[in-house]
Amino acid sequence: MIVDCHVHIGEGVYQACKPEKLLAGMDASGVDRAVVCPVDRNLAVDNAEGNDYVLDAVARYPDRFIAFATANPWYGARAIEELRRAIQAGARGLKLHSKVQGFAISDDIVNPLIEVAGEHSLPVFVHSGTMVCAEPLQLAMLARRYPSVNFIMGHSGATDFWNDMIPGITGAENIYLDTSLNNPASIERYCDAMGPERLCFGTDFPQNTYPVELEKIQNAVPDDQQRKIVLCETILRLLGEEVG
Ligand SMILES: [Zn+2]
Repeated sequence: MIVDCHVHIGEGVYQACKPEKLLAGMDASGVDRAVVCPVDRNLAVDNAEGNDYVLDAVARYPDRFIAFATANPWYGARAIEELRRAIQAGARGLKLHSKVQGFAISDDIVNPLIEVAGEHSLPVFVHSGTMVCAEPLQLAMLARRYPSVNFIMGHSGATDFWNDMIPGITGAENIYLDTSLNNPASIERYCDAMGPERLCFGTDFPQNTYPVELEKIQNAVPDDQQRKIVLCETILRLLGEEVG
């Protein structure tokens, strides 16, 4: 089984992808399921519109998609209310994108949202790889503040933070790594250092394509057993699902 931990669907300005386009990409490469989250403008503003889009896709294709909701922390109480509403409606994780949403990952502004995710034992997916606002060490600070919440680091710090990763997140056992956009040598290094149980296969589709991202994992994680963990088991465990 293959589960993609990182996809954006919706009608954005720089990102646009309908559920059917995603399904076609998944089917062509034998990908079973995907975590879907809102696109650019719905991450920044109109969070409810984006959350409804992904929840509607899940309602139409419940066996294929898993919804992660977003809420921009600058909305304060309204963000908390929106996240609670989306969770009630079936969202199974929180997606934060500090570059698009305008904060630094380690800033206390996100605390109330992390606490809501924690109350429901939901994972928090956080974009990384952008200087000043989305650095791996900032995520390590946040993850140490909330040791009972699991965080998925989008792109695993790619492209500029490969050097920070292993020393920086050692000691933050609740950080998991999304492989999208990253390079095979770094993925291999993280897998050796932290084990495949800390890696989740992701694409950031439609930004990256399935043949490219899957070939990368094939190269970076040549061991069949380890690759099975990276391709589906880690994300299923984070979602609280049975791993077969
Ligand atoms: Zn993303």
